[in-house]
Amino acid sequence: MNIDQLRESILAAPKNGYTKMSEEQKNEMNAYCRRYAAFMDAAKTEREATVWAVREAEKQGFKPLVPGMDLKPGDRVYMNNRGKSILLAVMGAQSLAEGANICAAHVDSPRLDLKPNPLYEDSEIAYVKTHYYGGIKKYQWATVPLALHGTVCCKDGSSVDVIIGEDDNDPILMISDLLPHLAADQMKKTLAEGIVGEQLNVIMGSEPLEGEGADLVKLHVMKLLNEKYGMIESDFVSAELTIVPAGRCRELGLDRSLLAAYGHDDRVCAYAEMESLFELGTPNKTAVCILADKEEIGSVGVTGMLSQAFEYFMELLCDTQGVKLTTCFAHSFCLSADVSNAYDPNFAETCDKRNNSQVNYGVAICKYTGARGKSGASDASAEAMSHVRTALNNAGVIWQIATMGKVDQGGGGTVAAYMANRNITTVDAGVPVLSMHAPMEIVSKLDCYMTKLACKAIYEA
Ligand code: MN
Ligand code: MN
Repeated sequence: MNIDQLRESILAAPKNGYTKMSEEQKNEMNAYCRRYAAFMDAAKTEREATVWAVREAEKQGFKPLVPGMDLKPGDRVYMNNRGKSILLAVMGAQSLAEGANICAAHVDSPRLDLKPNPLYEDSEIAYVKTHYYGGIKKYQWATVPLALHGTVCCKDGSSVDVIIGEDDNDPILMISDLLPHLAADQMKKTLAEGIVGEQLNVIMGSEPLEGEGADLVKLHVMKLLNEKYGMIESDFVSAELTIVPAGRCRELGLDRSLLAAYGHDDRVCAYAEMESLFELGTPNKTAVCILADKEEIGSVGVTGMLSQAFEYFMELLCDTQGVKLTTCFAHSFCLSADVSNAYDPNFAETCDKRNNSQVNYGVAICKYTGARGKSGASDASAEAMSHVRTALNNAGVIWQIATMGKVDQGGGGTVAAYMANRNITTVDAGVPVLSMHAPMEIVSKLDCYMTKLACKAIYEA
């Protein structure tokens, strides 16, 4: 054996995924990414993603799961959790006593939620006050086009969905920033302090209604909301309205190899899970797809992954076979499908390049997330990593390894720890992202497509 053969046989040699893609695969990848982009344009909030998922699932033959239902292999069911999260399953040939193959992603993304009493007028400009949701760099949200999305439950008991700022004929919304000419003091502040939380006030209008009295601009804005949606000011109390970046998912780069959009984290994995679930026939084990809410604020709440809603769904499935839920969990596997930080040469000092995911190297498998000494991580076992590696290799999926930046640089978490707490073997994997949590995030088409193939391989493992 010469030195080259030796090197090839025993050293790892990660390669750009494009070196391994056939023309046919590239065509499939591009078609997949067009479908994904359409989903992104239709689903900017967890509610919109859930509506989309229910509609597409029904088209694909999924039925609402109800207690006492008779289920046989190949049957397709779903549970809509309060319009903000959805759980879907394709029943497997084997008993649930053998466990389920689960993919878990989240469909909430960082954004600016309206406060309960948001609308006010100052200096004859109308604004809404917001409270940020999830981890954002606040300065990034000023001077970019914004849209209003959400649902209002009105006093009369009706509810109405709101979207302003997405149609080409809609107005957009915006947060102002200070001109550089007068920013001598602001420019001395840290990035965290340059724009603070209470400055994330969104401009809603400036034309006063004709007449006498206070707040004629605010009254004008409220009148327009009332005419379009039937809401009155006190209805903000029973509303979930949120400010998100306006605009569509766009191809990025002259070669169109990347996608820029709001909220790739984590709808890029949610879509991968969903489309691959729809393509299953009768899997060996029951395949479960989770689109969770509230991951960005700690997976709390009734629609987050810490909620018993997941147990309820799985127990209804297990009841149809007389299987104990704990038995099912003990034999289940979960791919916690969430994004990782792609290596960014502009910020090379924040990562260990040898252990970081990078764009176009495929779906990124992550043994552990967490902070400092792996605090908060699920930290998958060697055997769990082997299970994923083998499944992906057998399915010809291009994959790579990910870690969450340089040791002691920061950290993060996913739903992995909460799935593992349920006695379910869990591994993190997902799409590497540039500018994560920014108003526009960047992913590569190749990594998106490989994540879909990875989810399929896990369902079929
Ligand atoms: Mn995420
Ligand atoms: Mn996130």
